[in-house]
Amino acid sequence: MRILLQFPEGLKQKALEQAKRYESEGHEVIVSASPTFGACDLAIDEARSVKADKIVHFGHNEFHKVDFDVEYVPYAIDAPLTLLDNSLDVLGPYQRISIMTTVQHIHQLKQITEFYEKKGKTVVLGKPYGFAKERGQILGCDIGSASTVDRDVDAHVYFGGGLFHPLGAVLATTKPFFVIEPFQNTIKQIDGLRDTYKKKSRGKILSSLRAKNFGILVSTKNGQHNMNLGCIIKAKIEKAGLNAAILVANTFDFTSLDNMLEFDAFVNTACPRIAIDDATRTRAPILSANELMELLQMKVEQQISKRL
Ligand code: SF4
Repeated sequence: MRILLQFPEGLKQKALEQAKRYESEGHEVIVSASPTFGACDLAIDEARSVKADKIVHFGHNEFHKVDFDVEYVPYAIDAPLTLLDNSLDVLGPYQRISIMTTVQHIHQLKQITEFYEKKGKTVVLGKPYGFAKERGQILGCDIGSASTVDRDVDAHVYFGGGLFHPLGAVLATTKPFFVIEPFQNTIKQIDGLRDTYKKKSRGKILSSLRAKNFGILVSTKNGQHNMNLGCIIKAKIEKAGLNAAILVANTFDFTSLDNMLEFDAFVNTACPRIAIDDATRTRAPILSANELMELLQMKVEQQISKRL
């Protein structure tokens, strides 16, 4: 069988080792070298171009159904649990806690839950919206495991590396939020980020108030593609008397967007994290669909007050 191997950035270092393994099993192997950000980003076009029969996608579990044979190989990482003891100091005042993690550590969630329950806590595991598959699992775009239990808990705890995943969850919740980072050996409270990002969002909207020309980002990635939303947004912008064009790419390159000098602002329909994490990487702001709606409303109010 001809197989296309696909690795997220953190696992690309394993490409040759895995290629050799599949070859030793009698397969013909080709490795995708394209950037890969999630299981939303399957290299189906590449697989078809090289006439592969199947994609083996490492590091993630299934995101949604596609019309191509894909085998998902999640990559479990055993993170040290030594910080759990220390976390009891900061979690002292909170009786009911939600715990969440990424697919890499989901196999450790039972052990983590049991630890806190033995220490007298009540642990609540939320349910993802659907892109993540297991209770307590979060993705950058599926923070259901945090938001669906926000009203039932006194605090949230994220266990895992980096800020990318907990950032989405902290912005979608209202309770104290702690990050246990087993690789950096740190425990941080990050709910202060809610205000920071609220201000950043307000700043983007205000800086787009004079915008007349909007570029709407529509990705061709299988799990991000949303042409319908792109068309709805375009119609809304044009109804407001402004100009819009749909811009399509697989991975958006911020330098290329910057070269599109006619656009005063961009509106994101692709990975929702682009409008949060990458919003200021371009000359013109990148708005989410909700931020665009706020902006259009403000423009209407401005016009009304000018007429009065
Ligand atoms: S849409 Fe964005 S956040 Fe969601 S899996 Fe893909 S890259 Fe990650």
